[in-house]
Amino acid sequence: MAKQAILMLGAPGSGKGTQAKNLEKEYGFVQISTGELLRERVKVLDELGKQISDFMNVGAFVPDELISKMLVEHIRSAAMDKILFDGFPRNETQIQIFEKLLQELGIEELTPIYLHVEEEELIRRLLKRAEIEGRADDTEGTIGKRIKTYNTLTHPVVDHYATYPNFIQVSGDDQPAEVVWEELKGRLSFK
Ligand code: AMP
Repeated sequence: MAKQAILMLGAPGSGKGTQAKNLEKEYGFVQISTGELLRERVKVLDELGKQISDFMNVGAFVPDELISKMLVEHIRSAAMDKILFDGFPRNETQIQIFEKLLQELGIEELTPIYLHVEEEELIRRLLKRAEIEGRADDTEGTIGKRIKTYNTLTHPVVDHYATYPNFIQVSGDDQPAEVVWEELKGRLSFK
């Protein structure tokens, strides 16, 4: 079977993680979330862990070189035919790294999925998540910075993949995650 990859695109709070879990369960994709990898790495209380948390806690990106090294090491440690990328690529430089990685991995089919949610709704959700999960980067000041960074650096990544034939855009506004999932599933052609 052809090696497949999904690229989950969307702002912080758009529901990428939730839909990624659905895609994992339904179609057997393995989710790779760079945010999760970083949060795990931060738990190692060494100098690198501290450097990473210093970036994350103020809502800044960690350097491209560092994130791509972590990603490549993680992928090489497991043989995967169906990979779901969540949180990477996040800027133009990372697109180049990503395209090269797909080639190296022999991925023949890429499906970019974009979850669109209006900014006001994103802020509302992230503040709610802050109450529930207590993530260090879900504070009011940091949320604003992350959304701004998303608009300037990451939205161009969406524009890039919007030209792909398999590109799928789903609205995550004003509807529960289950409804978004049903709509998404209906648009996919995976078996
Ligand atoms: P996320 O869980 O995807 O919202 O990511 C949380 C934080 O991890 C981001 O605000 C960044 O500080 C960092 N991060 C995650 N993915 C990347 C990436 N591809 N490049 C740079 N920083 C990242």
